Amino acid sequence: MTEISKEEIDEILERYDKKRITIATICSHTALQIFFGAKQEGFKTLGICRPEMKRVYESFPLAKPDKFLLVDDYDEILSSSIHAKLIEDNVIIVPHGSFVEYIGSKNICNNLLLPIFGNRLVFEWESDRKKERNWLLSAGLRMPLEFKNPSDIDRLVIVKFHGAKGGKNYFLAKNEEEFHQGMEKVGANGKEYTIQEYVVGANLYFHYFNSVIENRIELLGMDKRYESNIEGIVRIPHLINKIKKDPSFVVVGNTPVIVRESLLQKILKIGEDVVKSSRDMFPKGLIGPFCIETVCTEDLEFVVFEISARIVAGTNLYMFGSPYSQLLYKEPMSTGRRISREIKTAIERGLLSSVVY
Ligand code: AMP
Repeated sequence: MTEISKEEIDEILERYDKKRITIATICSHTALQIFFGAKQEGFKTLGICRPEMKRVYESFPLAKPDKFLLVDDYDEILSSSIHAKLIEDNVIIVPHGSFVEYIGSKNICNNLLLPIFGNRLVFEWESDRKKERNWLLSAGLRMPLEFKNPSDIDRLVIVKFHGAKGGKNYFLAKNEEEFHQGMEKVGANGKEYTIQEYVVGANLYFHYFNSVIENRIELLGMDKRYESNIEGIVRIPHLINKIKKDPSFVVVGNTPVIVRESLLQKILKIGEDVVKSSRDMFPKGLIGPFCIETVCTEDLEFVVFEISARIVAGTNLYMFGSPYSQLLYKEPMSTGRRISREIKTAIERGLLSSVVY
């Protein structure tokens, strides 16, 4: 399969009625925020939805999409009949974490012949841990050590699996024996894994927006993850021997966080460095929202263990803006709204093609 070219997408965009653009996404993840933000910016909205989820999106009138496209399986988005319906509505797709998970990065690059906000090439880099590591190291960021072979494990490590599965089945191991026991326990034998040094510190996730229209990188917010069962375990460390449970890192929610102001200099630089090196990795580089996931050590060094190159669920905390976004915008600015603002400004300046691929 060959990659969908930018020219093919530009041809579709050229045929669009720019006064009747519809913002569309799959009803999951950050869809409420994306629809709410699109409505605030005056766009029509369309939710690609499984029948059982429709009720959720009808329950919040200010974020309810103007139109539902019901599908039994999200794969249907790849069919030519659905493509035709979406193109008729002048749809621009906003990809989020569940969108990438359900459709798959390869399908997005090769088979989703619809205009997507941002740069579709990024998903290949985000979902392949080797490419992702190469990118982040090229940006000069500090990353956790990685162990190629289980026999090399000489410290506490976290074993992770590919794809945005919200920390599912991740486990800790101190040596090769514990690695094999863990793989057996989570039923992951034969699956692709990454063995990473477990970095002890405070988790911090930064939400950036790279605006190619305004030519600046905005820090829109930050969060930390609320994870089960690790959050429960740290509350009773003195009883850890009694509970007979291994720590797990299943994301169940997000909590807001604000950092010491003196750390902002490093945080802004991380965003800039990642955008700069993305341009060396793939044509045009990162466009729009992205999140850098870090552990801040007691020496106040950021160790980066992941990038999400699209809107992240932690931004749902800030549907009405964050302390940082309020210093950038006089009106409530969520990441969802910021995406639609970028599309709107791009249309006004005749630059839509530069924020869509
Ligand atoms: P991820 O899927 O990479 O976002 O990781 C899910 C969770 O696992 C994170 O939110 C962290 O709590 C934890 N985690 C992942 N990698 C590391 C690491 N190298 N050191 C410490 N904790 C980690």
